[in-house]
Amino acid sequence: MRALALAVILAASACDGAAPTAEAAPPPASSETPAAAESPSESAPGPPAPATQEPPATSLPLVLLATLVADDASASKAMIRDETAKTVMSYRPGDPIRNDAIVARVLAGKVVIVHDEREELLAVGVAPAEIAPDDVFYPDLIDDDLSDTMADGVQLQSGQGWLVKTPAFAWGTPRTVHRLREALRAYARRDPESPDIHVGDISKAGGGPFPPHLSHRGGRDVDIGYVLQGRLAHEPRFIHTDASNLDPARTWALVQVLLESRAVAWIFMDYEVQRLLFAHAKGQGISADQLDAWFQYPSGNRATRGIIRDWRGHDDHFHVRFAE
Ligand SMILES: [Zn+2]
Repeated sequence: MRALALAVILAASACDGAAPTAEAAPPPASSETPAAAESPSESAPGPPAPATQEPPATSLPLVLLATLVADDASASKAMIRDETAKTVMSYRPGDPIRNDAIVARVLAGKVVIVHDEREELLAVGVAPAEIAPDDVFYPDLIDDDLSDTMADGVQLQSGQGWLVKTPAFAWGTPRTVHRLREALRAYARRDPESPDIHVGDISKAGGGPFPPHLSHRGGRDVDIGYVLQGRLAHEPRFIHTDASNLDPARTWALVQVLLESRAVAWIFMDYEVQRLLFAHAKGQGISADQLDAWFQYPSGNRATRGIIRDWRGHDDHFHVRFAE
């Protein structure tokens, strides 16, 4: 068994400011943390700092809650609270925290992150950490079996009823690609008039880290666009989805097939879209017990219930994690 050292949970709160970042889209320049908040001594010329010197403290609104240092540095983990997104998540070296920040190294009680291509330090603070009751933290979601790579990947091609947005990023495990294709075919058979489903990123060939995605490493995660009404349904990009443009019947047709296949571990979906699909499914006569097993809604968007869970960045597509 691997020797692990656990740093105690102690942290200070940080500033707020930056806008939440979506999973796949870089934030607009106006939402960047002002550069003036960062180390002012940076402009002074001089010899390169010795490698042992600690980088400056990060200005990002992050709180380090705990570190778990493993013998194999790549297996070390840091539990970090994102003050802006209100998420608490476990990160390993190489994991993106935001679009502009990646975990570089996890040490006892501190983490070196690369933010805008510069190293910055995030240390466990001195005041007790506050975790708000509405933080997103799904302890039941941690999947230690999730692979970082994919030896046996196969590529999903576009087919009758679906469009693969970027074939180079549509590599999955044979089981995931098979199950996904079955669901997409069932969607197309149900109503040949239905617009094509837009399938986004799965994994790169061979898998591995795939920024800005936190997952999508082992060929079991798939991003899928909601089916929209009218001509929007044919736009080959993910579009913010709400009651004004969602086609609930067609979107539910696909989501229901995926859920009924029992091949799906989790679906990440915006809470408002959950509400719309829940109402549609209920109207279709789906039983209360079944709805309860499938949906987090209406228990609140932080509730650890249901296969379908709210997660930031999923208001223009949903994310399917296939079970092994
Ligand atoms: Zn995703």
